[in-house]
Amino acid sequence: MEEIPNKSHVLVLPFPVQGHINPMIQFSKRLASKGSIKVTLITIDSISKSMPMLEYGSIKIHSIPSNDSPPESYDHFLEWFRSLVCKTLTTIVETLSDTDHEYPVKVIVFDSITTWAIDLAHELGLKGAAFFTQSCALSVIYYHMDPERTEVCYDGCGNVCLPSLPLLEKQDLPSFVSQSYLYPSLSKLVFSRNVNFKKADWLLFNSFDVLEKEVIDWLRTQCRIKTIGPIIPSMYLDTRLKDDKEYGLSLFKPNSETCMKWLDLREIGSVVYVSFGSLASLGEQQMEELAFGLLMTDCYFLWVVRATEENKLPKEFMSKAKEKCLIVNWCPQLDVLAHRAVGCFFTHCGWNSTLEALSLGVPMVAMPQWSDQPTNAKFICDVWQTGVRVKAGENGVITREEVARSIRQVMEEEKGVTLKENASKWKQLAKEAVDDGGSSDKNIEEFLKFVMH
Ligand code: UDP
Repeated sequence: MEEIPNKSHVLVLPFPVQGHINPMIQFSKRLASKGSIKVTLITIDSISKSMPMLEYGSIKIHSIPSNDSPPESYDHFLEWFRSLVCKTLTTIVETLSDTDHEYPVKVIVFDSITTWAIDLAHELGLKGAAFFTQSCALSVIYYHMDPERTEVCYDGCGNVCLPSLPLLEKQDLPSFVSQSYLYPSLSKLVFSRNVNFKKADWLLFNSFDVLEKEVIDWLRTQCRIKTIGPIIPSMYLDTRLKDDKEYGLSLFKPNSETCMKWLDLREIGSVVYVSFGSLASLGEQQMEELAFGLLMTDCYFLWVVRATEENKLPKEFMSKAKEKCLIVNWCPQLDVLAHRAVGCFFTHCGWNSTLEALSLGVPMVAMPQWSDQPTNAKFICDVWQTGVRVKAGENGVITREEVARSIRQVMEEEKGVTLKENASKWKQLAKEAVDDGGSSDKNIEEFLKFVMH
């Protein structure tokens, strides 16, 4: 008699900001594509209303209604979200299990930032998998530099030497380590994630084995981590998931047609794409230096300036830039990076943007702002060697000359050719990792087996 496979229902609980939801939706799609499984993504109303569809194949979206709108400050938001989920999760799990006995809820995949979710999962008799939306290197840094656990590890020059990592100067450290005084509560939060290493049943990382080989080998000596990335829509990598062309959520509305039409008019590799992601905000002086630095090059540039940042653009800039520049409030970043006209990504080095550039083979100019971005920039320049980093002047501002110099290095000089070759190599390795039988693909299958038990 044919064996009936076990069936299972997985709940996925991302922290509701763009850079965290995108990879967790993608992970859900990969998981659901393996069959015999249902996935429900749990989020809040303000996010679900920006999702064009409330269902993606076998993935359902469950939006938790709330009477009050989410608070703006991070601290209050974190607590608001925790309390909302804690109040409602039991009912959600009971309702889902009652309506579908065939697919019992067995596992919650939660954002590693919401450390309280593991206790909640265990109280409900479920297993919990912590999903990390940053690099493995970051986790190693936080693991070793946890003020609760360790006396750290600076050498006489203020550099940090940790197992499996390159020597890190102050400028390479995450801002929650190097400038923790600026972000007391967020710094506390990132270190609190270390609790996942003790409590979570699984640890999932949006990275892939060869990308962070030494770091991952070391982490594996400490805990059971599984790399499942790069989690970007399949169409841009292995093309195995039909119709998986976009993340499915855009909290900002992209000016897609304008961008693609403008790029279509440009020659191969002639455009610098400039973006600082969904959160980072430049000072007015820095914005001016950047704007005029871009103009000093001979390149075309497509610059994402979010609506809330637009008032910082220097007044005389727009008239001067008309010929060479397209400014939009948001763009379809994957399509832009995949466009043949784009020769360089001038980036804040957010982890998703970094993985996207590596997966699509685009060389970078790194201008990290905060959080994990300085460490990502270090790896981009010195480990993966797919980019150069701008150097700040004494007052911390990056001058227009430095902006132009860095772009020319990538777009015009011999160095750029090597960066491009390296980028193409990483693109191939990223594809292999998620393709049939690749390291990340195998890890997702192993996770699936765990979910089925
Ligand atoms: N993104 C986009 N359009 C833009 C800028 C960014 O779609 O104009 C997407 C980008 O593809 C990435 C995410 O927003 O998936 C940004 O995540 P990242 O980790 O790079 O930075 P964060 O916004 O979290 O700082």
